[in-house]
Amino acid sequence: MTATVSTTSTFYASVRQQLDDIKASGLYKTERIIASPQGSQIRTADGKEVINLCANNYLGLSSHPEVIAAAGEALSQRGFGLSSVRFICGTQDIHKELEQRLSRFLGTEDTILYGSAFDANGGLFESLLDAQDAIISDELNHASIIDGIRLSKAKRFRYKNNDMADLRLQLQAAREDGARFVLVFTDGVFSMDGSIAKLDEMRSICDEFGALLGVDDCHSTGFLGATGRGTHEHHGVFGTIDLITGTLGKALGGASGGFTSGRSEVISLLRQKSRPYLFSNTIAPAIAGASIKVLDLLEADTSMRDKLENNAKHFRSGLEKLGFDLKPGSHPIIPVMVYDADKAQELSRRLLELGVYVIGFFYPVVPKGQARIRVQISAQHTTEQLNLAIAAFAKAGTDLGILK
Ligand SMILES: *Cc1c(COP(=O)(O)O)cnc(C)c1O
Repeated sequence: MTATVSTTSTFYASVRQQLDDIKASGLYKTERIIASPQGSQIRTADGKEVINLCANNYLGLSSHPEVIAAAGEALSQRGFGLSSVRFICGTQDIHKELEQRLSRFLGTEDTILYGSAFDANGGLFESLLDAQDAIISDELNHASIIDGIRLSKAKRFRYKNNDMADLRLQLQAAREDGARFVLVFTDGVFSMDGSIAKLDEMRSICDEFGALLGVDDCHSTGFLGATGRGTHEHHGVFGTIDLITGTLGKALGGASGGFTSGRSEVISLLRQKSRPYLFSNTIAPAIAGASIKVLDLLEADTSMRDKLENNAKHFRSGLEKLGFDLKPGSHPIIPVMVYDADKAQELSRRLLELGVYVIGFFYPVVPKGQARIRVQISAQHTTEQLNLAIAAFAKAGTDLGILK
């Protein structure tokens, strides 16, 4: 190979080439611009009002009046920003209060806040495990878990999605390999399928092998389980999970911020060692104040998570009756299987014309030939909005020959 002399102009040409390649392969992502608050109905930049079925706004708290008021109160009482990482001068009373409230909500001893769940996962594994240890990860785990595991020196093992027999094999392999500490880590809910990790079985398998169990509950905290505590409550293993990571950016108000929750000595060690905590800014006071209000609302009663559950059931049965092929489940993520990537894109385009905003997902986000529309239901949707959306699905599905 002859070495070509690199110049800045060839660098920029190479960047443009990559962009062209992404476009040519049909994988170029564009962003639709919203000109209203987040909600069950939104206004796009061209002035169109559409029913929104693609936000992680599960409980409708993104623009809830009490949450906005609490954010405003924290903004005026504690200021806009802290201009500091936590350990220098970035910790207010409300940051500590939020950590305690999250611990109580999740059934853990202590919680550490991060700028995002991506950072929580990024700063987790490297801080707790080293080359003598092993991490066993579900093959469908979120990108932030994969990256976080990559940053640690622990040996990596991977098991097939939600496959308990394979998990056992990987645990055996890790033990035979002489691992000192073994951590099994999973998404609580797999976001493309809406399927739920079998945390109850996983807990007992991990106990058999003396392994720690961790879960990233970003798509569950706030609404899964009878009182919305998450996947551990859903599966009857509340209070038994070693590590829980989560986000403030989905059901819990949807602003931004993340956390890791668990035993107090573990959280204390993370405060000493976790790089995204030590070297990145503290969350804004308005987010801390609003998140405390969110937990007040969720602990007061279960009306929002109950409404979400009923809405998801209503929508699921509506689409099933029409003859759509859905991934089975009970989570408010409802994947409508289209299989063909072009068809999925056509369906989402047609639905937008009909006033329903949904996104089609296809390879490489999901396996080849498994293209789908991912519907996400919110507690904020009215029955009328859901029925309008079901009718739009009926029309678009018939127009495109998906429904017979
Ligand atoms: C959304 C999500 C994240 C990232 O959360 P942020 O707080 O936005 O960084 C991490 N893990 C899982 C499983 C997620 O769904």
